[in-house]
Amino acid sequence: MFLSIFDIFKVGIGPSSSHTNGPMIAASMFLQSLKTASDLSLDTRSISRITCTLHGSLAFTGKGHSTDKAILYGMAGLTPENFDPDRIVKIKNELSQNDYISVNGFSSVRFCPESDIIFDYGPALKQHANGMIFRVFDADGNLCGSKTFFSIGGGFVKSELELGITKEALNSKEIPYPFSTAEEMIQLASANNISISKMKKDNELVFITQDELNTGITKIWADMKKSIQDGLHTDGILPGGLKLRRRAKALYKSLNSEKGLNSTAPHVVNDWIALYAMAVNEENAAGGKIVTAPTNGAAGVIPATLMYYLEHVPNSDPNKIHDFLLTAAAIGGILKSNASISGAEVGCQGEVGSAAAMAAAGLCSVLGGSAAQIENAAEIALEHHLGMTCDPIKGLVQAPCIERNGLGAIKAVSAASLALRGDGIHLVSLDACIKTMFETGKDMMVKYKETSQGGLAVNVIEC
Ligand code: SF4
Repeated sequence: MFLSIFDIFKVGIGPSSSHTNGPMIAASMFLQSLKTASDLSLDTRSISRITCTLHGSLAFTGKGHSTDKAILYGMAGLTPENFDPDRIVKIKNELSQNDYISVNGFSSVRFCPESDIIFDYGPALKQHANGMIFRVFDADGNLCGSKTFFSIGGGFVKSELELGITKEALNSKEIPYPFSTAEEMIQLASANNISISKMKKDNELVFITQDELNTGITKIWADMKKSIQDGLHTDGILPGGLKLRRRAKALYKSLNSEKGLNSTAPHVVNDWIALYAMAVNEENAAGGKIVTAPTNGAAGVIPATLMYYLEHVPNSDPNKIHDFLLTAAAIGGILKSNASISGAEVGCQGEVGSAAAMAAAGLCSVLGGSAAQIENAAEIALEHHLGMTCDPIKGLVQAPCIERNGLGAIKAVSAASLALRGDGIHLVSLDACIKTMFETGKDMMVKYKETSQGGLAVNVIEC
């Protein structure tokens, strides 16, 4: 299945791609399907009430991840793309005056989040850990129809029907360099004497123009950079009840004050890398705008690694930003097609581990790595995240998530550097590593997969 760079990198609202952006998108897709009533065979004039039941990880960590707010905002017509803080103020005013809002496009339908969003703490739906069922009722309380959606990670949403469609059926247009595994990617690069970023670019150009591609990638980096800058200049306490202080601003000040000092140890560059990632993830935790890369929870790793390249590597070249992001997106597509980038499905190895693999590949590429070295860089970064669980304290994407992105970026830089010192020949292939990540994730106990029922989430006493 071809995944565009713009599927992998999308504007997202914090704190979670699968638990905030996905549900908001699902609510909007559901309303759209109601309007067309295409697969619900429903007389829309008879609708009186809509409910949304959250299942699995969406129920267990939904409050901490603002899933309920996301559903409410989706019902009001918001999506991550058209998200507008002024509309949020209006929604909150409407809610405080009544205990409901009018559903977008269905002004006679009142949506009351208290009673119409239902957290089902029973077993997850069998198809996926992040399921939600929207139901519509008539004025007499009779169920008129329902539709099930799954938020499958990275802000991707599928209906029950789409989830069952095979990868082959989704392949549509022919692309010049079709690769869905790392092995195919290296073979194509070698057979055509072409870089991974150029192959990815040529594939993208089947669907959009050169101008659209350039403008889109430039915007991705501008949005990533803005989220770093916003994070570096904001302090205070993060929302949600953990009373966690934002640290990026103070750390930035401290690192700046040491700039140029002879006594500064070389490893301090790691603090800069972590700082950039933490700045993004603090923005995400505060509900700010970030770029999913490939998810919200792991949004800091790629921007931090690219910022490290631009700010700290001698003779870095801003003209290579597009190569970095295209290469990272190529690896992201392979990861998404063969495993998962969802913490609820495979644990944090699939989120921060995937982001680190993508970032390592991007950095290796702009530092002059061959296709084999790039594959090796991604593999090293992913291999050393294998087994990592997802256990956010209080269901908030704060601890361990914020610091974890910093360490993920540091690992990405080391992985790229190690790969560049080799010749690309290595024992564990990226494909084997991805397969292992997926299998390990499937075998992982549910309590370690974004349910906040295990790990740090139960062993750290909240104050
Ligand atoms: S622990 Fe990792 S996978 Fe889980 S919410 Fe945090 S960043 Fe995402």
